[in-house]
Amino acid sequence: MKITGKTKIVGIFGYPIEHTFSPLMHNAAFSALGLDYCYIPFEVQPEDLKSAVEGIRALNIRGINITVPHKEAVIKYLDELSKEAKLIGAVNTIENKGGKLIGHNTDGRGFIKSLWDDAKTRVKGKRVLLLGAGGAGKGIAVSCALEGASEITIANRTIKKADELVGYLKRNFKKTKFSVIPLDGHEIAKGIAGADILINATSIGLKGKGLLPISQKDLHRDLVIYDLIYNPQITPLLKIAGRAGVKKAVNGLGMLIHQGALAFQIWTGKKPPVDVMKKAVL
Ligand code: NAP
Repeated sequence: MKITGKTKIVGIFGYPIEHTFSPLMHNAAFSALGLDYCYIPFEVQPEDLKSAVEGIRALNIRGINITVPHKEAVIKYLDELSKEAKLIGAVNTIENKGGKLIGHNTDGRGFIKSLWDDAKTRVKGKRVLLLGAGGAGKGIAVSCALEGASEITIANRTIKKADELVGYLKRNFKKTKFSVIPLDGHEIAKGIAGADILINATSIGLKGKGLLPISQKDLHRDLVIYDLIYNPQITPLLKIAGRAGVKKAVNGLGMLIHQGALAFQIWTGKKPPVDVMKKAVL
């Protein structure tokens, strides 16, 4: 990559930030299309977020991804929000449009694109069982409702959080049926029996986080399983799915790639080279 006087800067704000795959993914995409852009990781502590956002304007940075722990806190410093960012209440991508900062959320749409790309599945008219009501869970629930899921059942360890999320969804989406169940084996087995798509948006499955209360006999072959976790690539849930003969079961790598690809398109206006981005991450 050759940095010149004309190079446009984009990047990511987060804390910590060393683990991010985004610079690899975006810089590979810029190179592949011969675009004079450079993507840089910025370690931004929570107390410095306001100054960092002011810096986007001051330095004419073209776009910024936002990751943990700033996705919600950043909203108050922006000029405008996209419809999805407003509904999800979190921003993962900032577009600098001539000094006006617009917040987008590409996580949910990234998930929907990956579900189609990797599992050839549409959400419209489907019954979704969603495990998790944290930041990712909320984004997925809103996106599934926007896509026209017929039913969304949410299971979470802290039931109050699932209740609050479902209350919010019921106020905003009238055509989808919402309910809450506890994150316990018996209830989840019943939920799976009545679901078309099972989504894991909890942290369970990450190293040291234990196992979901799901066993092989609870799964049916036509269930579509999407595990947001991608490290390890074959997650504990995907192992069980394999043993149960589930035909479509995928990890969250595609969501990571597609949320990045959508941000790339917002910043550059160009069609993202998704295969190049995928290769860089792998
Ligand atoms: P978060 O806001 O911290 O939420 C964590 C969720 O996991 C909550 O529902 C939490 O339940 C649940 N949880 C955590 N530890 C648990 C345990 N020991 N037992 C039961 N439930 C537990 O995190 P997030 O941002 O939503 O991320 C959730 C997962 O999605 C993470 O694994 C993250 O890596 C993954 N993710 C993937 C992508 C992608 O692009 N593929 C994007 C975003 C996130 P409580 O509410 O009870 O705490």
